[in-house]
Amino acid sequence: MFSSRLSRAQTLHARTYATASSRPPLSGLNALARPKAEQLSRDWKGTSATGENTKNFIGGEFVESKTAEWIDVVDPSTQTLLTRVPETTSAEFEQAADAASEAFKSWSKTSVLTRQRFALELQRLIRENADALATSIVLEQGKTVPDAHGDILRGLQVVEHAASAPSLLLGEKIEVSKDMDTEVRKLPLGVVSAIAPFNFPAMIPLWSIPMATVTGNTVILKPSERDPGAAMMIAELCQRAGLPPGVVNVVHGTVPTVNAICDHPAIRAISFVGGDRAGRHIYERGTKHGKRVQSNMGAKNHGILMPDANKNLALNSIVGAAFGAAGQRCMALSVAILVGDAQAWLPDLIKLASQLTVGGGFEKDTDLGPVISPAAKRRILGLIDSVEEEGGKIHLDGRHVKVQGYEHGNFIGPTIVESGTHMRSYQEEIFGPVLVVLRAETLDEGIQIINSNKYGNGTAIFTQSGATARKFEQDVNVGQIGINVPIPVPLPMFSWSGNKASALGDLGFYGKSAFEFYTLKKTTTSLWKAEDALTSKASVNMPTQR
Ligand code: NAD
Repeated sequence: MFSSRLSRAQTLHARTYATASSRPPLSGLNALARPKAEQLSRDWKGTSATGENTKNFIGGEFVESKTAEWIDVVDPSTQTLLTRVPETTSAEFEQAADAASEAFKSWSKTSVLTRQRFALELQRLIRENADALATSIVLEQGKTVPDAHGDILRGLQVVEHAASAPSLLLGEKIEVSKDMDTEVRKLPLGVVSAIAPFNFPAMIPLWSIPMATVTGNTVILKPSERDPGAAMMIAELCQRAGLPPGVVNVVHGTVPTVNAICDHPAIRAISFVGGDRAGRHIYERGTKHGKRVQSNMGAKNHGILMPDANKNLALNSIVGAAFGAAGQRCMALSVAILVGDAQAWLPDLIKLASQLTVGGGFEKDTDLGPVISPAAKRRILGLIDSVEEEGGKIHLDGRHVKVQGYEHGNFIGPTIVESGTHMRSYQEEIFGPVLVVLRAETLDEGIQIINSNKYGNGTAIFTQSGATARKFEQDVNVGQIGINVPIPVPLPMFSWSGNKASALGDLGFYGKSAFEFYTLKKTTTSLWKAEDALTSKASVNMPTQR
């Protein structure tokens, strides 16, 4: 095992999702990954890739938890133990809530320009430290280095957008009658919380931290217990960017910590991103306690291939969007509907997918890395098995892929299956490198399939016809639509708009919606009669509004 420096007592108390007995034997980081892991552990206060515990970040301090329950964080391409995260104790959670409540008193009163400057400085620091953040993501999550940079960049764009707060927070005012004004102001809510999934360790924390803080709120973030490193580094960058203690806090854990967030009276809003089960639970429990909750959940995203499409663009787009990040994206195109003559393109689709390279995330040629855990791999393999059990066909079988030098990794090769819409492989979110192919005779039939699916995160059509694209856009009932664009995630000047079973809550993440989500509106109506004015001495100084 690679230099785990945990004490025996800590090891005895360690609790894992994938327990030691259910994991393949520990191997160790190779010469490519090891120096990067050592550097990371040396440079950052809250995280480790060499076996030390991950800290909580409370009131501006990186603190070691006193918990007896620890969760292993393991490199998915080798099963090497990188660090452990605590199941935060109730007392520690109270400290985080107190720190955030205390910090709110002054942070909510800072000028919007101070908060804007924080966003500007944070974006500079994230750019400067992008390589280190990417290293943490590759080690803990398994994605490739370029894909890890994409994860960071999509979060960074939200930080950049947050810097527009002074104009986006402008309120409304009108003189409703002579000398009487009504004014609407957008004020911070208080302490807010964010609960993140494993698949975007940097992007999802950055959907909430900049938007929540720039609007004057304070934050308690709970990252995924599987890959907390990037969130800890972002917390440290927030501190370096001058954020006062307690404005951003990070606590770790699983269901008990999530429930503490849902129940705590000081927390006014929760942003959740993750799977259906947790998302529905958090929405119900949080709203029951009077909190504003936004919940982004699972997906099954369909791409329609029309026979008039640019074949090369369409097939490459589908392969990239189905298998990139080993299919572990909520906007992955996991279903391809081949319409009419486009059905003849299936052999070319299979050939393209079969040319992708599976490997460790630091290896130069790797197109897709491992899935997050042995349990995830078992679940995905079970879903592939079910295709033949239910009468479908496996066209490209990645179940037995072997990756030299990474024999213990959770790898699955690109897999293409043909299913019916009643089959498990179509009905369930697979969240792995598996593309389900369906056939349709007409565009209407394709749209009918998509509209009958319970999810509504994203969809795409590949066609050269504007009229066909227009009809698709109008008739399909999915929230994010791509026309010759495989992953139509809106940039942060817009907001996330997944719908149906993919989202709960009315206000989307980031963009204009976030300014609504993180603020409370107050209207004031005032009457100041001009004829009552007293003459007073004028100030000759330049007003600065500070
Ligand atoms: P997950 O639901 O297992 O975990 C997400 C968070 O919820 C974690 O912080 C975890 O600790 C917590 N959690 C897990 N189970 C819980 C429970 N029973 N009760 C309370 N809290 C619980 O999700 P994941 O596996 O980390 O992420 C993958 C899922 O996230 C996929 O379904 C994917 O589609 C979804 N996702 C959606 C979006 C989107 O914007 N729609 C974006 C990214 C990921």
